[in-house]
Amino acid sequence: MVAAGIHISKVETSKLQEMTLENLPFGRYFTDHMLEADFENGEWKNVEIKPYQPLLLEPSLAALHYGQAIFEGIKAYKDADGNAAIFRPLDNFKRFNISAERMNMPTVPEEIFMEGMHTLIELDKNWIPSLPDHSLYIRPFMFSSDPVIGVKPSESYKFIIILSPTGPYYSTPMKIYVEEKYTRAAPGGVGFSKNAGNYGGSMLATALAKKQGYDQVLWTDAFEHKYLQEVGTMNVFFIIGNKAITPSLEDGTILAGVTRDSAITVLKEMGLDVIEEKISIDELMDAHKNGQLREVFGTGTAATISMIKELRYKDYTMHFDTATWTIAPELKKRLNAIREGRAADTHGWMYKI
Ligand SMILES: *Cc1c(COP(=O)(O)O)cnc(C)c1O
Repeated sequence: MVAAGIHISKVETSKLQEMTLENLPFGRYFTDHMLEADFENGEWKNVEIKPYQPLLLEPSLAALHYGQAIFEGIKAYKDADGNAAIFRPLDNFKRFNISAERMNMPTVPEEIFMEGMHTLIELDKNWIPSLPDHSLYIRPFMFSSDPVIGVKPSESYKFIIILSPTGPYYSTPMKIYVEEKYTRAAPGGVGFSKNAGNYGGSMLATALAKKQGYDQVLWTDAFEHKYLQEVGTMNVFFIIGNKAITPSLEDGTILAGVTRDSAITVLKEMGLDVIEEKISIDELMDAHKNGQLREVFGTGTAATISMIKELRYKDYTMHFDTATWTIAPELKKRLNAIREGRAADTHGWMYKI
């Protein structure tokens, strides 16, 4: 497929000739091509696919000073027969434009985001690893590009898609510290948007938790530091009795993960009651003391499911023997089987290339 209006210039020789797609670390290698488009004078223009290359930018670039910058993370897979497909990219496209609106940025039209991504991946299809647990990570992003340091929403923006082959992602069970000082998101803020600043703002708390021997923090609400939000940059699920509980989205402090949504669907198919509601650390500790808290895990595109083996709140530590868990491993198995083309795609989640 060649989308109308996309100018394509190809590399002369592929970098793939010099490398293998086995055991690549996350986000370090990029494919031969990238997509770039500009928003100027109220419209998108210059949509092109070209060899992956550095950007030449003014030091006054608005995004570097005032942080209008958003992104997405999506994965493409190749099944055993070599058929390529992307996992739920339309959901990421919609979320990208929700992030754009919150950051007062222009929305990106479907033709550029979806057809651009499709055309780019078709061109770099040989870069999709077909090994188990490997994938091609897709990173669409947009930033303000006015070369002006006056504080105002930028008038020009750049939209780019880059591709990075990756895997396998070893997610060993995590030790988590319940954060009570720093805040990731507050009602009315930008927590539900996938913007760069949310990540910048979370790094210190994570680094401090690491110093104390934890892998990540469990974010709590901004007012009382009681209600649970997300674990690191993943959504969080608690299995209590026969219920799967995950924090609800309504106050705008939670990023609406595509993996979260997929997990809700699959957990229901596995026979659990899935409940989206406010849940506090006190309720969680009570469930733990009663022996009802069975499993705790994070969900996200990078790791799919990350199990939590230790959860520390003040002086109380909850230990879990993840080797005995049944739900998180089964959920991960089912999601990965769909994504890697080993199970029927009954929900229409796979977008074929
Ligand atoms: C991206 C992200 C997630 C996970 O979203 P997926 O669509 O499942 O990858 C969760 N929380 C935050 C803060 C994120 O940025």
